[in-house]
Amino acid sequence: MTSSNGTINSAKANQQPHLRVIPLGGLHEIGKNTCVFEYGDDIMLVDAGLAFPSDGMHGVNVVMPDTSYLRENQKRIRGMIVTHGHEDHIGGIAHHLKNFSIPVIHGPRLALAMLTGKMEEAGVMDRTILQTVAPRDVVKVGQHFSVEFIRNTHSMADSFSLAITTPVGTIIFTGDFKFDHTPVDGEYFDMARLAHYGEQGVLCLFSDSTNSEVPGFCPPERSVFPCLDRHISQAEGRVIITTFASSIHRVSMILELALKNGRKVGLLGRSMLNVIAKARELGYMQAPDDLFVPIKQIRDLPDRETLLLMTGSQGEPLAALSRISRCEHPQVQVKSTDTIIFSASPIPGNTISVVNTIDRLMMLGAKVVYGKGEGIHVSGHGFQEDQKLMLALTKPKYFVPVHGEHRMLVCHSKTAQSLGVPADNILIIDNGDVVELTPDSIRKGDAVKAGIELLDASRNGIVDARVLKERQQLAEDGVITLLAVISTDGVMAAPPRANLRGVVTTADPRKLSSWAEREIGWVLENRWGQLCRNTGGSAPDVDWVGVQREVEVGLQRRLRRELQVEPLIICVVQPAPAGTPAYKGRADAEPDTRPAPRGGRDGGRDGGGRRDVVRDSSGRAPLPQRQLATVGAPASAGAAPTTEVAAASAVAAPAVSLPSVAAPVVSAPVVKAAPVEETDPEPAGRIRRRRSAAAE
Ligand SMILES: [Zn+2]
Ligand SMILES: [Zn+2]
Repeated sequence: MTSSNGTINSAKANQQPHLRVIPLGGLHEIGKNTCVFEYGDDIMLVDAGLAFPSDGMHGVNVVMPDTSYLRENQKRIRGMIVTHGHEDHIGGIAHHLKNFSIPVIHGPRLALAMLTGKMEEAGVMDRTILQTVAPRDVVKVGQHFSVEFIRNTHSMADSFSLAITTPVGTIIFTGDFKFDHTPVDGEYFDMARLAHYGEQGVLCLFSDSTNSEVPGFCPPERSVFPCLDRHISQAEGRVIITTFASSIHRVSMILELALKNGRKVGLLGRSMLNVIAKARELGYMQAPDDLFVPIKQIRDLPDRETLLLMTGSQGEPLAALSRISRCEHPQVQVKSTDTIIFSASPIPGNTISVVNTIDRLMMLGAKVVYGKGEGIHVSGHGFQEDQKLMLALTKPKYFVPVHGEHRMLVCHSKTAQSLGVPADNILIIDNGDVVELTPDSIRKGDAVKAGIELLDASRNGIVDARVLKERQQLAEDGVITLLAVISTDGVMAAPPRANLRGVVTTADPRKLSSWAEREIGWVLENRWGQLCRNTGGSAPDVDWVGVQREVEVGLQRRLRRELQVEPLIICVVQPAPAGTPAYKGRADAEPDTRPAPRGGRDGGRDGGGRRDVVRDSSGRAPLPQRQLATVGAPASAGAAPTTEVAAASAVAAPAVSLPSVAAPVVSAPVVKAAPVEETDPEPAGRIRRRRSAAAE
């Protein structure tokens, strides 16, 4: 949505030096806020957060933005600014430091203290310099940026909005904010400073859109105090409260209420313990030491004198409260006299896990307090009136709504228009879009690469598209492992053995074996020439990985057509020495009842090799030659298995038992199909689709 104003000015803008602002995350989503500011040769980053996986991202722990652009331009990165310590703003930094360098990071004391913990864990403490800032501090980044930290109010303590002075004008970057006039920690929003910049002239405002659909002012954080107080003081037994550990103000109030109501506090959950320790150490939270009692000892106190504060407000499966709700926690079991308070609202996407947790806790007999009507939670992000106040104070010439899903951005842009910002001066952008600003224009430039990177539980391994596809197949349709014994001269030496896990099928096992035999037979008949190279040595050089993949693809295609299932298929070939007698398969004895082929692979098979040639010419990827080198030769040739083969066999072997009646069983290395590395340039699923598209 390039504004018409921008289009008119675009020729001019291209000639002038301009500021480029490129969000790599945080748009059309809540999470992984990462923004790039660029002028001349300088790049400055503002925040680098993470997001949490959505349904179907099996085994994915966190989602990061694709940072190819930053890796490619890392020599120009002069520094980073951190607005506050929430995970969606700092959660990606430790990971990024492994991939590219950031010379210096300026940020609030609390956020950097939390970041230090993450960097120590990731072993990247020596990769950057951390500089803490105080309100109204101005830091210079590179030649072209100077940034003033303006104290704001948010659910997290020590949070800032930014005034970024650049050669084209001043940018106000709000960070996460709401206008809270009675802040829990007494740190007021420095509205005077915003107004000062508004008076001087703000070129562009980048503002938090999270609650742009909600009318009115966001209630102050303090407003939950009396409601929590009522529930805690009325509780007859234990009080169990869950909230975000990082909601420092909320946690402070809960501790204050525990003290007031004569209850000792037991803490559960790693992040709850970490954040409270850091916040107390730095003076963001006041609580006497003897308020806290280790969880093992708190059981000795009367229930009326205890309060358990824990993680799990989002129904995260491994968090303390979720485990308690499943009766899986070693120290805490639910009692019918417990009052359990959810002092948080579910982030979109977590609603189902949260309500399931609430259901389980209620079924165990506890009183559960949750939901909007109870006054036990308020948002940390301003509503429409807060957003209007921000616009009114800063009086920006141009406006870009950020930090929100698409409809939130649209809604926020309408609010800005209602305050007199012309529609042409507003850009709604997506991750990777480039906002180009000059003193008298705003336009959308050519986008840079943006997307997602998925990290597994270790936060080190990247879950690529193919791995994700395989996990989805496993979850939805299960896995079939297939053991085939094939001699180095291309003869099936024993009946193939299929092993099903999690596969629901009406086909009888003999049928499956017979299909497998047909596919193996077809591959040996039609593909062997390409897969086997006679190098003049004692044994031919066989591309076993290629053989396995051909069998997998064929069988997968057949199962999809015959049974409408798409299990993951892992074919394992056990090579046998040349000259091993052929096994005369069942398949030969049985008539093939498949529907008449329409071309493609089966056409090729039924009609000899003729149609197969057609398929080859229709875009089938040639077999990568590199595989020939990486696959171990059969033991009969005397070669030791390569590392890759050994590793593969360690994974694959337990899933398949050798056929006890197999003819010559050789002690050859077992070769697993499609090792998870770069030999396969694209996800198996895509190869399959293209094939079927070519054939049907
Ligand atoms: Zn935040
Ligand atoms: Zn945020």
